[in-house]
Amino acid sequence: MHPLGDGIGSVSLVQHMGDDQSVVNAARVSYGQDRPGSGPLSPRDAKLIRYLLAHDHGSPFEHNAMTFKVVAPIFVLRQWMRHRIASYNEISARYSEVQDLHYRPQVFRAQATGNKQASVESPQVPQEQAASLWQAAWQESYLCYQKLLALGVAREQARGVLPTAMYSEMYFSCNLRALFHFLELRDHPGAQWEIRQYAKALEQLGEPIFPVCFAAWREARSAR
Ligand SMILES: Cc1cc2nc3c(=O)[nH]c(=O)nc-3n(C[C@H](O)[C@H](O)[C@H](O)COP(=O)(O)OP(=O)(O)OC[C@H]3O[C@@H](n4cnc5c(N)ncnc54)[C@H](O)[C@@H]3O)c2cc1C
Repeated sequence: MHPLGDGIGSVSLVQHMGDDQSVVNAARVSYGQDRPGSGPLSPRDAKLIRYLLAHDHGSPFEHNAMTFKVVAPIFVLRQWMRHRIASYNEISARYSEVQDLHYRPQVFRAQATGNKQASVESPQVPQEQAASLWQAAWQESYLCYQKLLALGVAREQARGVLPTAMYSEMYFSCNLRALFHFLELRDHPGAQWEIRQYAKALEQLGEPIFPVCFAAWREARSAR
């Protein structure tokens, strides 16, 4: 999946463990009624999942795992990694040379006036001028980076001249409880458009693994 539509930024599911049934089992073990294995959920099982989500019983949603490979601009990863209930491993610009790959917005947004953290599309922003400034800044920075490397400067220092639009890549692992929390905060109108696109991609990749949980989570979310 290419959330930013530039063919560079991406999210893919690397591996996963657990399903809707494992959520039900984790809840039912409380009274010795777990049913190991998986299969289609009964209406009673689905009702239990809805009950758990509606009443904030989060722990049954923790006995599973998903690992995603994410390619995203550094400024997106910086927001992403604030989510501590997850595991991360990221490519190191100390060990490998940074590629000439950066994100350039397809639409440059204006600062919202009523809300400090929001941005809005606006005809006032001269798109071509903004795109050309952005491109020039990247090219100049990347050229300086290469020149520093050519001078013999270490990769760990030379990378300091690169902008946060540079692409980086990471493995991101979390359980379903943490994923729902991430989605609630990042697929939200208050979140930056770019990370929101990644949140939507995670949602599309996670839902086929836990279809009943996702349906119940949406229901609980809209009832709040
Ligand atoms: C729209 C938006 C704007 C933001 N703006 C800013 C900003 O301007 N500056 C800034 O610094 N951050 C900002 N953040 C980051 C935000 O403050 C959180 O760090 C981030 O959203 C991760 O949320 P979290 O801590 O709930 O998630 P996680 O770190 O994944 O934690 C999940 C849950 O575990 C519990 N938990 C985790 N760690 C602790 C702990 N140490 N003590 C107690 N409970 C814990 C909490 O219940 C928490 O909700 C912003 C986030 C959003 C969505």
